[in-house]
Amino acid sequence: MINVTKTFLPPQEEFNAILKQAWDKKWITNRGNLVLELEKKLKTYLSVPNIIATTNGTLPLQIAIKALKLKGEIITTPFSYVATSSSIVWEGCIPVFVDIHPDYLTIDETKIESAITENTSAIIATHVFGNPCHVDKIEAIAKKHQLKVIYDAAHSFGVTYKGNSIFNYGDISACSFHATKLFHTGEGGAMFCNNQELFNTLFYLHNFGHDGPEQFQGLGINAKMSELQAAMGLAVLPYMGKILDERKRVINVYQRELIFSKLKPLIIRDNTNWNYSYYPVVFETEKQLKAAILELNKNNIYPRRYFYPSLNNLPYLKKVDMPVSESIAQTILCLPLSHDLNEASILKICEILNEIE
Ligand SMILES: *Cc1c(COP(=O)(O)O)cnc(C)c1O
Repeated sequence: MINVTKTFLPPQEEFNAILKQAWDKKWITNRGNLVLELEKKLKTYLSVPNIIATTNGTLPLQIAIKALKLKGEIITTPFSYVATSSSIVWEGCIPVFVDIHPDYLTIDETKIESAITENTSAIIATHVFGNPCHVDKIEAIAKKHQLKVIYDAAHSFGVTYKGNSIFNYGDISACSFHATKLFHTGEGGAMFCNNQELFNTLFYLHNFGHDGPEQFQGLGINAKMSELQAAMGLAVLPYMGKILDERKRVINVYQRELIFSKLKPLIIRDNTNWNYSYYPVVFETEKQLKAAILELNKNNIYPRRYFYPSLNNLPYLKKVDMPVSESIAQTILCLPLSHDLNEASILKICEILNEIE
């Protein structure tokens, strides 16, 4: 069976050797040595000034909204994973959707200003499939209207834009290290923020507001990464070069073999060093997409409709029309992509897709 993704598992003895450090110290959470070591290594690997490792990629979004004291309306994208919208609602704010760009699939920055009202406090946008938003334009809009910017950078591990880590853009960025993501710790994630004062606030917030064992700086929650998660990250990190090479190999075959007349690939924004995190294709019609899924499933190949449905159709939100996002959500398919997808399988997938009428 071939799935849309396959988690990279490091050699078990390497994972165990790292875990042994936790056993020896009898210390398995509360920011132990393994979390500290992972944060240090990631800072270097990603070229970011600071990082807070977290237990998943969703709590950082909620904590970011809290830390920036956001209220009222937050402009956001309808084309993302549900966590982007649900975090806004969970924190008592109102998501105001702005449609996406049909090629880049990120929020359409030219439509943001007309959605701003006196109640708007921020923009939360997603770097979809690791493809950066138009961060420069968004920064200019935010400055002009005094809005905060949070990036859901769950897909963007290792991406650089104009030579700078994508995590360095916006007020706060959140990444996910979930097992289905490019770099993973089983469950996990991280927050990034270049403003030291705000970073300190994030730090308190992710650890109950603790300021030492007996004092509290303020309200907080528990978003700490455990030593067990960090051990997985430390075991996976040395393989990132190899993982990226293999994913690039797979994508090169897709690019070479697929016929892009009916199908459309994702267009990566200029000045981006992309991370090969997903390989989506867009069909002309949902009928073609369904036919492709049926045929692939017959061959034991399971791609995924990602993201579907468009988030403006969530049952707990007021209905609004987002024609581009809805159309893309109905016709986009993420093809299988992993470090060990073999050439024969990729060729089979391409053959099936090329035959869809
Ligand atoms: C995976 C993902 C998240 C959530 O991350 P978790 O680590 O699963 O909590 C948020 N946003 C996007 C776009 C994602 O793909």
